[in-house]
Order: sequence, then structure tokens, then C-alpha cells
Amino acid sequence: MSADSREGHSDRQVVGRFAPSPTGALHTGSLVAAVGSYLMAKQAGGRWLLRLDDLDAQRQVPGMADDIMRTLESFGLLWDGEVNRQSRHLKEYQYFFETLQQSGMVYPCGCSRKEIARSASAPHVDDDCMSYPGSCRGGMKVGSPVRSWRVRVQDEEICFSDLRKGRVCQNLSDACGDFILKRGDGEFAYQLAVVVDDYLAGVNQVVRGDDLIVSTPRQIYLQRLLGFPEPAYCHLPLVVGPNGSKLSKRDHLISHQLGNTAGREQDLLITAICFLGLSPPQELDRYSCGDILEWCVTHFKPLQLSAHSSVTAI
Ligand code: GLU
Repeated sequence: MSADSREGHSDRQVVGRFAPSPTGALHTGSLVAAVGSYLMAKQAGGRWLLRLDDLDAQRQVPGMADDIMRTLESFGLLWDGEVNRQSRHLKEYQYFFETLQQSGMVYPCGCSRKEIARSASAPHVDDDCMSYPGSCRGGMKVGSPVRSWRVRVQDEEICFSDLRKGRVCQNLSDACGDFILKRGDGEFAYQLAVVVDDYLAGVNQVVRGDDLIVSTPRQIYLQRLLGFPEPAYCHLPLVVGPNGSKLSKRDHLISHQLGNTAGREQDLLITAICFLGLSPPQELDRYSCGDILEWCVTHFKPLQLSAHSSVTAI
């Protein structure tokens, strides 16, 4: 697989995307991420793609992929081209996994989560990034099953320039250590899948919620190892509940299937665009969602985002 296998697009055209996991209905936080990524791509005259991150078969909710698509449509958020699905790209993940393996960067690990939790000295940044002390770097204990395959990281800062937050750095070695690319049961990790998918689809602008910023240095590290170009990144402020907690998929659901947004799409859309720093005129709520988005594309300035606080309740 080479750069030629990527979807055709002009190098200068912005290609953004929204990549929900169909593990539950969208919520108001996802709406902000969808609208933010849409506006960033469209105001630059670019394309906006939709990808369903459906790798984790056990957490999929039947009918949810469809519900997400219908919900986006009801908000006028129409994606360009075919919907992409991670579950259709296992061969590509395997190909790039093997590329990394051949370069000597990947090794099998027999450690269980419990063992890692016991031996980790540094606090972990998230569940997927439990600080791994490198126990199996030099070889696994005899007789232990392969529980995962990990990529070696270096003791160096990975930095990138976030369009909203400015320069962000993380030392992968301190933050999480050698991280998982593939699990023992054959399932590929999100970090590898997302890097391969964005590359193959020609995505050069990743706009998503601030909760994912902790993953970005790992993704940039993989891009560098694989020789992929680095997309521009923008991590949007998170929508939080009244008590400051992260919204779960149970809260503030927006679902076509549940019918709970019918007739309220314009209001919700306007709330989302205000959250993104736009100040729409009063009469905009009489427009259709498509017209509201068109107004936004003309008036949206990415710099407005940087003035916005990182966590705000709506
Ligand atoms: N599928 C991920 C999620 O729903 C987002 C992936 C991404 O934007 O990189 O949290």
C-alpha cells in the first residue's frame, strides 16, 4: 500500500471529518464536534467526511450507525462521498501493523492490565494509555499468552500546534509508555486505526473534542513512524453537564430514532454554533438547518475558537 492508494484529492484542499463511534446516540457534545469539524472544513472550501468508528464489535448498539446518519442529516450536516466504516479496513490495519513490525518497532506483550496497574509508577492519562513500564520489551515471560502487541516509544517530547490551544507537548514515555496497537484477540487499537483511516481518506484536518487531545501525540508518533503527513489539529472545547462532568452518551442525547429533537433542530444547532463562538442574528432561528449552516460557513472564523474557554456548560 502506498500513497497512491489514498483517495484522490488535491493536496491543497482541506479534508475534514467527523468520526463518531456507533456505541450510542449522538449527544450535544457530539453535535458541537460535528458542527465544528464541518465549519472548519467548509469555510476553507474543503470536504467533510463521515466515518463510523465501529471496530469494537461488543460495544456496538444495533441500529445506532443508521441513527447517527439520520440525525446528522436532520441537522443539515451532509457529508461528502460515501460513509467510511472502520470495520471494513482490517486488511489495511494489518498491512501497516506489519510494516511497523518489520521495522522492529512492535513487540508482543504478555502483561495483564492488573500486572501493569501494579507495576506502573506514573499515573496513567487514560484507560487505553495505562503507564506501561516496558516489562516485555526484552521478551515475554516463558509460557505467558500474547495479550497485546505494543509499539516502542522514545523518551522524547512529541509536540504539535493545535489550532485552538497552541503548542501542545507530551512525552509518550512518561505519559503512557509503549502503547498497544493490537490486542491478543486480534482487535486493532483505536490509535492505529484512526491514523491509518485518516491517512487513507486523505484527511488533513482533524477537528474533535478536547477529550481526545491526550491521544494526539500517540497518533502523531505513529504517523511519523509510518511516514504519513501530519494533519492540522483542532481540539474543541468540551460541552459539560451542569456539575462540570463530561457528558456521557446517556445525557443530552440527540437521536432521530428517539424523535427527541424533532422540531428543535434549529434551536440546538444555534446553541452549538454559539458555543463555537459565533453570534448569529436573532432571525436565524427562522431559517432551515441548511440555511443556518450556510450562514455559519460565511461567518465562521477559526480564530474565534481560540478566545473560547476550554470547558463550558450548555
Ligand atoms: N470515534 C472516536 C469517538 O467517538 C473519535 C475519533 C476521532 O475523532 O479521532 O470518540
